[in-house]
Amino acid sequence: MKLHLPAMVCFRVTRYCNARCGFCLAPPDGAHPPAHVLMQRLDWLAGQGVRTIHFCGGEPTIHPALPELLAHVRAQGGGSRLTTNGIALPDRLLPALGAARTRVKLSLHGDRAHHDAVVGRAAFDLATRHLRSLLMAGIPTGIQTTVVSGGEWVLDWMADFCLAEGVPQWCVLPFIPRGSGYRTQGEYGLTPAQRAQAHERVRRLRHTLRGRLDVRWLDFSAQPLPVVEADGRVLLERASESLDTLLYTIPGYTVPPKRIPDSSIQR
Ligand code: SF4
Repeated sequence: MKLHLPAMVCFRVTRYCNARCGFCLAPPDGAHPPAHVLMQRLDWLAGQGVRTIHFCGGEPTIHPALPELLAHVRAQGGGSRLTTNGIALPDRLLPALGAARTRVKLSLHGDRAHHDAVVGRAAFDLATRHLRSLLMAGIPTGIQTTVVSGGEWVLDWMADFCLAEGVPQWCVLPFIPRGSGYRTQGEYGLTPAQRAQAHERVRRLRHTLRGRLDVRWLDFSAQPLPVVEADGRVLLERASESLDTLLYTIPGYTVPPKRIPDSSIQR
């Protein structure tokens, strides 16, 4: 069956995570497939003509098989990207990212107090330490920041941070009420005016910092996002789950009804 997927899809390695962001688009739901299932899905995607796998989650770095998955895509002649919260950077992952020529996007949402508050744990120091490790290793690494109501000030702070740290690319995501955002939209939801102001501030920063920092505005509600979910569903994700389009379900894996054992999570 040919689905006519785009050249790049978001590949959810797991729906488990070592953080609890209030705006999570894909919060924990029990899906944490074993390595051989993920490998089969990568083969299936290659057969569908997908050329670039964007590893995401949940938090993909907590899956111990991530280095092997990256190598598998590279061996097939494909490209890879990784979005991570930067809390964990296992020893085996850094060389695997380099060998697979993976482009990384690390989530950082503001200064220590703001970042730790929205991520739901102490995470800023780990994320910034691992960001520096990635940059020093020559891994192409950018930052993504979710902007929430009351946190618009982080735009200028993050721009300065990216310049100071030598980060080449910075993406700004406006909060959308999907996933955990359903619960938190009263606290984090942007009014149309706040959203427009944030978008305008990003547009000005992009203009001002041209040549020094590649600044982008990424609105996930603006266009469907092709996703392979951790439970094997192939979806076009939109602004809310009720608007998603189910394209196909890759057979061979069902979500276990109990929590996964801690031993299968990389912390
Ligand atoms: S947004 Fe990312 S880091 Fe935060 S809880 Fe969700 S998967 Fe984890």
